[in-house]
Amino acid sequence: MTPSAREIFSSSACSRGVFPASSSSLARAKRKIRYSHLTKKKVSNRRASATTTKMNIICASASAKNNNNNNNNNNRISCGDAIVNESLTPPPASGAEFDVIVIGNGPLGAAIGLHLSEKKEKKILILDSGEESLSSGSDDLGRIVRPLDAEGREEWTQLNIDSIRSFREIQEESEIEFFEKKGSLSIGSRAFVSRPASLLEAKGIEHEILRGRDEMCEKFEYLSPKTIPEEYIAVSDRVGGYVSPHKMRAAFNRLAVKNNEWTKVCVQTGEEIVASTTTDKNDDDGFVKVRTTDGNKYVAKEKVIVACGYYTQPLLHRSKIDMESLEDVKISKRTIILAKVSEEDAKGRFRDMPTIKYELPESVRSTRTTTDTSTSGTSDQSKNEAKSVYILPPIWYPGPVPSPGYYVKIGGGPNDFMTLSKAVMFDGEKNDIDKNKEKKSPIEQRKELDSVWEDHRKATYEDQKEDIESWMNSDGDPEIVPQLKTALLHVFPDVQFQSFETKACATTCTSNGSMKIEHYSEGKIWAVTGCNGKAAGPAWAIAKEVVANASL
Ligand SMILES: Cc1cc2nc3c(=O)[nH]c(=O)nc-3n(C[C@H](O)[C@H](O)[C@H](O)COP(=O)(O)OP(=O)(O)OC[C@H]3O[C@@H](n4cnc5c(N)ncnc54)[C@H](O)[C@@H]3O)c2cc1C
Repeated sequence: MTPSAREIFSSSACSRGVFPASSSSLARAKRKIRYSHLTKKKVSNRRASATTTKMNIICASASAKNNNNNNNNNNRISCGDAIVNESLTPPPASGAEFDVIVIGNGPLGAAIGLHLSEKKEKKILILDSGEESLSSGSDDLGRIVRPLDAEGREEWTQLNIDSIRSFREIQEESEIEFFEKKGSLSIGSRAFVSRPASLLEAKGIEHEILRGRDEMCEKFEYLSPKTIPEEYIAVSDRVGGYVSPHKMRAAFNRLAVKNNEWTKVCVQTGEEIVASTTTDKNDDDGFVKVRTTDGNKYVAKEKVIVACGYYTQPLLHRSKIDMESLEDVKISKRTIILAKVSEEDAKGRFRDMPTIKYELPESVRSTRTTTDTSTSGTSDQSKNEAKSVYILPPIWYPGPVPSPGYYVKIGGGPNDFMTLSKAVMFDGEKNDIDKNKEKKSPIEQRKELDSVWEDHRKATYEDQKEDIESWMNSDGDPEIVPQLKTALLHVFPDVQFQSFETKACATTCTSNGSMKIEHYSEGKIWAVTGCNGKAAGPAWAIAKEVVANASL
């Protein structure tokens, strides 16, 4: 990251080599790796109790079946729109060369692809695992985008403003509408709303401040004076709204392909990134390769950018990247409720409803605290999430998942960080590699080390994938669901909801609440992660920073 860059990301700008190839790797031979019986048992139990799938996929790509590691993520929300996969092409032949390969075609990967496509001379490949392989953190029909950042952070406020400003042109050029300008509302104590409000003021964003319950309930008819604390303040803008992440991705993809005939988007799951380094004599072309689960190998002459959401760390780990710099990035298990409302309510009382961030009064707050308060749990995002909820206005879900209808979405509550399975690593005297060290040549030692690491990486990657997918295939946290329902009925006590559906989701959080962009292997591999639950809406602006900082 360049020192002159705006304070968008926290970055250690590290440039470490891949594990066995780096000069420090042989020193690591002393470190031994094995799996505890407990870990193995846990894995087999989990496999035995593989989650049953419940729902059907509507927006699956035609080529998604290419993936070998099919997890049947059948509780995906149906987006019912063929347009979302329109830009996909069949996978290029194995061995094909590109300038840049982007792994992950979520909001961030697609936006990175779009910015890269403006460089007409570059050949770009965007890979995505497809809906039937790995799950995605943006599997829904609404993601909030708003300058009224919940934590009142300058960086996030600006990213949202810049992205919203870009939408009009992108929608016009792509002919895909993905943004609903509904406005944003933040309701809570003075302490809760004052920072976001002062940033709107500082940025010259038109907004309104309503002091006290009566004033806000008069203006927003869906709020009830029965429940809102009297002293609460509301801040509202008419700039924000929500995006359909699927349609936004489709628009980015369509424009990327239109801008640059060399851009390819296809369904392939990246299994390993192999970076040759200048010290690696076996593979001295200096290019990075991406091996996919289908057995294809693609060559990136300049860079590979990893934008795999919560799969970013597992993939880097699988690829032997020493990613100490991402150690504080944790996956937070999130739960949402989709509450069905009548068409009459959707088009009536909720007609002009903006997205809402609401500070819960103590009486309706979760009794649970954020897990792991030592690191990511201490960020302002984590603290704010623990005491608030966000609510999206009714969105039409075409079904079958959930059943067709208008749904209000509510989410929030304390972060619950996932503990990904890890192999047990320890130093000891009885390691076979160490024991025979004197008798073996450096090449033999290296081969032995590689094979031990290979087992370690495979097992932990598969293990981590199971941890993630079993959460994503669940109905969310049974303890959080009633709390979200209570919060929803607190905010809307007069609304007759027709049904409540729950869904698990996940996002990556950092200890300081900023995103992370890191680079490895002499700057040939870049990773973007640490979305803190708010990087879908502003993905366009985040991606712009990524491409600028990667000097592409
Ligand atoms: C419940 C919930 C609510 C949220 N609400 C909001 C909101 O209102 N506003 C907002 O801005 N943000 C919100 N977020 C956060 C937002 O969804 C994330 O910031 C966003 O999804 C991050 O985008 P991404 O492209 O990095 O990752 P993802 O959306 O997860 O996309 C990554 C893509 O990479 C693919 N992939 C993974 N591994 C591989 C591989 N090895 N090879 C190929 N492809 C791979 C995945 O399948 C996926 O398609 C929310 C998150 C959650 C969980």
